[in-house]
This record gives sequence, structure tokens and C-alpha cells, in this order.
Amino acid sequence: MSQSLSPESPIAPDRSAADRPLPKPGIMEIHAYQPGKSKAEGIAHPVKLSANENPLGSSPKAHAAYVEAGSRLQVYPDPRASLVRAAIAERFRLEPERLIFGCGSDEVFQLLNQTFLEPGDNMVQGQYGFAAFAIGARACQAEVKYAPEPGYRIDVDELLAQVDDRTRLVFLANPGNPTGTWIPFSEVRRLHEALPASVVLVLDGAYGEFALDAAFNDGLELARGASNIVVTHTFSKLHGLAGLRVGWGYAPAEIAAAVDRIRLPFNINVPAQVAAVAALEDEDFQQQSIALMEQWRPWLTQQLGGLGLEVVGPSAANFVLVGFPQTPGRSAAEADAFLASRGLLVRGVGLYGLPDHLRITIGLEAHNRALIDALADFMQAP
Ligand SMILES: *Cc1c(COP(=O)(O)O)cnc(C)c1O
Repeated sequence: MSQSLSPESPIAPDRSAADRPLPKPGIMEIHAYQPGKSKAEGIAHPVKLSANENPLGSSPKAHAAYVEAGSRLQVYPDPRASLVRAAIAERFRLEPERLIFGCGSDEVFQLLNQTFLEPGDNMVQGQYGFAAFAIGARACQAEVKYAPEPGYRIDVDELLAQVDDRTRLVFLANPGNPTGTWIPFSEVRRLHEALPASVVLVLDGAYGEFALDAAFNDGLELARGASNIVVTHTFSKLHGLAGLRVGWGYAPAEIAAAVDRIRLPFNINVPAQVAAVAALEDEDFQQQSIALMEQWRPWLTQQLGGLGLEVVGPSAANFVLVGFPQTPGRSAAEADAFLASRGLLVRGVGLYGLPDHLRITIGLEAHNRALIDALADFMQAP
């Protein structure tokens, strides 16, 4: 019997004597990652504002490179992703051998967890930390320790208070998901200075390009001279290549070499490699993606506030986290259903402990206006 089927027994089951193969302890207690909704009942083409995808699509140059790669599907990919590696190294002036590539940054997180965590160790993250961090840590039979985020914001002292002698990793998404909030670089530096040298600090910059305040910094420069910082980035958000799954990390050479020992050899596929290189070169597309946020993030925040809704923030990401009243008829769950009936898909965040909030990706002008119109109707309904 598995532990989850017999919760009255705290004793680990004897896996060798079981009448069927049993996953190792802890696996069945993990909540599988829940992606944002992609379907609305009875609506053929809903607007998907539930997964922080790029509403502009992706770079036409990346798309062309992807299509061209379709004539070479019989070849294995370059296991070192050399062209992407060289392009990123040049663009950000980084040492190529210190880069780690993953099937999305999700895989980079997974590889770091696998490289550093053994049963009994722990990983520390914020209370609302991204679910993918914790899934990988639990799969290593490590404990996940959550630091309170007062005001929906990472608090460095709370993170540090969770660190003990079994802590091997601290994950910090800056800006955070699902909160959208961020902490200034001075706080990131303070966190790093206070951490023991044996703890890896992972700075997840998935939304870093959308954080436009001068006090924000993704930490690449800090990581350059540090022996325990890994900065991650992704092609999923700014570049709109979520479907191709390319993420990367900038790590100390020793960490990159360790991760390389357990990485699957061909984890970045051929079309993904060529499209990523082309996307990196298309600065126009990147600028348009950032300009869209500059234009619509403040507008949405103001309009939502005008409807009496609380916007967590300020958001520095490509989404906003919106708080709803608990009043029947006005709740987040009811708003979620109402928006879906209008063909607008947003993200419930109950699994993050935020049952009264919805996370809404910032879309094109028409999407954003439709969203505000629908929420105005929702809030005014009798
Ligand atoms: C979207 C997202 C990522 C990127 O994930 P990929 O696996 O690269 O698509 C990383 N971190 C956070 C917090 C995210 O929301």
C-alpha cells in the first residue's frame, strides 16, 4: 500500500514486499504542475491570458529558422548547443563554458536540484515561489522550506531565516511568478552576502527583461565573480518561444561542469537551437515585446484599480496579479468562470495559496480592453 492510500500509517511501506511497483516515498505527495487553461467551453478561439505567453507571437526570423530546420530532422542536435551558446556568450559577454542549457529553464532548475539535493537536504524559496522549483526538489526527496512574503513580496530576512545547515539551494524568481513583484538589486546582493558559501543562489530572471526600474538587475554581473550564483533566463517569455523549450543558466564553471554530467545529451532540439539564435538577433521583436508591457501594464493596473480590484504590485512582469473580494458574486473563482464565458482565459492561483487572486497575462490592446470591459460587467452585475 502506498503512503497516500493509507494515511493512517506514518511508516514507510515495504516497497520490496508490495504487490505492485511503488514510487519512492514522497512522489505521490507532489502536486503535478498545473498549466494555465487553454480551452473555454463553447468558444472556438478563446484569448489565452493564462500562461504568460507572448501576445505578439514570436520573432518572424525565429519562425523562419524553425521552418528551415524542418529539412534536417534526421540529425541529432548539437549536444553542446554551440551556436546558441556562442550567441548568448557574445550578447551578454559571458564565458561560454559557464552556460547551462535546458528544455526550458524548468529543466535547468531540475538539473540544479538533482545536482545538489539529497534526501534530508532542503531548498528555500518564497511563500509564493514558482511551483516548478519545488517539484524538482521534492523529487530528490528534499524538503522545501517556504519563507513568508509579506505584502506579496520577497523578504530577504525571511528567506535567510529559513536557511539552515541542510540548505543547499535558494530559489528566487525576480520578478516573481505569480506575484509579479520584485526586489531591488541591493537586496539581492544582501541576500547573497549573508548566504553560506555552500548554498547555491538561483536567480530566475524569466521576467527580468520586463522589469524596467533602474534599481532592478538580473544578477549576471554579480554572478560573474561569485562561486555560488546561477542566473537563469528563458526564451519562453520575451522571445515568445515557449513551445520550443529553451532556457539557460549562467553558473560558476564547476557547477556547469557538474550539471553537464547528468544532463540528457540532446536536450535542446534542432529547431529550438536555430530559432533561439535567430530570436536573440531580432532586437526589434524584443523591443516590441517590452514596449507592449510599458504601454499596457500601467493602463491595466489603473483600470483594474478603478473597478475596485486590488492589483498586487507594482508588477514588473508581463502579467498582473489581481485580488478579488470574498463577497459572493464577486469572488476570484466566479470572475474566472465569468471571464471564461466571455472567451478570456486567466489563471487561478489557488494552488499557490492565493484563492482570492487571478493572474492575468498582459495581452494586445484588444485583449486588454476586452478584459476590462468584461470585468466591469462582472463587478456591476446584480
Ligand atoms: C515562465 C517561467 C519560467 C520559464 O520557464 P521555461 O521552462 O523556460 O518555459 C521560469 N520561471 C518562472 C518563474 C516562470 O514563470
